[in-house]
Amino acid sequence: MTDVIEKTEVLKIVGLHKSFDQLEVLKGIDLTMQKGEVVVLLGASGSGKSTMLRCVNFMETPTSGRIIFEGKPVGKIHQGNGAVDYLEKELAILRSHVGMVFQHFNLFPHMTVKENVMEGPRTVLKLDKSECERRALKYLEKVGLAWKADAYPSQLSGGQQQRVAIARALAMEPSLMLFDEATSALDPELVGEVLETMKELADEGMTMLIVTHELGFAYTVADRVLFLADGDILEQGAPEDVLIHPKQEGTKKFLKGHGSFRLPEPQLD
Ligand code: ADP
Ligand code: MG
Repeated sequence: MTDVIEKTEVLKIVGLHKSFDQLEVLKGIDLTMQKGEVVVLLGASGSGKSTMLRCVNFMETPTSGRIIFEGKPVGKIHQGNGAVDYLEKELAILRSHVGMVFQHFNLFPHMTVKENVMEGPRTVLKLDKSECERRALKYLEKVGLAWKADAYPSQLSGGQQQRVAIARALAMEPSLMLFDEATSALDPELVGEVLETMKELADEGMTMLIVTHELGFAYTVADRVLFLADGDILEQGAPEDVLIHPKQEGTKKFLKGHGSFRLPEPQLD
């Protein structure tokens, strides 16, 4: 019985602490994400949102705490000092199952769009060329850019480049997608197409942990919204609860600072 429940947990973060020298950024974060769940992480600049995402795919090593991915704790407890030891090989496998999309998409400028998307499956998964090509076209199709397969990144708009970056992450067929302010660097008129692509992914059942300042998007797409402050989750709940009826002063202040956002549908009352 418990087994069945655990298998649906894609990610479990337990007591995650992260310090940079004297600066304690994360002070014991707990989070469980079920398969297909979309969680939006909000918080002021410098509150540790990126650090939290980076600990999930081990671009940063947690100072303490555990990351449990698809039911399996990452790393092994050291018999002597109780610390968690991580093997690079295990982390590489984990990373291949966790897609990440950043603010700056960093596509390879000398490769075509299709080659960019083929790169992960080719070099990391070592799939044969025809399978890499099949995947590239499949996921470019999904983000609506198969028609740009032979273009170079510089020939695309910022929004299109970010959609290619999403296709590149999807081509690894990850079980979890992390988005760190994926639309923050885009011109305002290009934000919508990227959010739309992310919404389609969410609708298809992708498990997603998203840092964004797009509150309307969070309201529409998130199953759960988390507000991070002072190294901990200050408040969390359904979008309606956190975004419309926040309980904590810190959350209220943050939301005020972000102005009002348009609700996607008319409010009936
Ligand atoms: P956010 O994404 O919420 O804006 P970050 O996770 O980027 O916040 O940063 C949280 C805090 O940790 C900030 O004070 C930042 O300066 C600090 N920090 C982040 N990465 C490092 C690092 N590699 N070395 C030292 N300090 C860092
Ligand atoms: Mg950040």
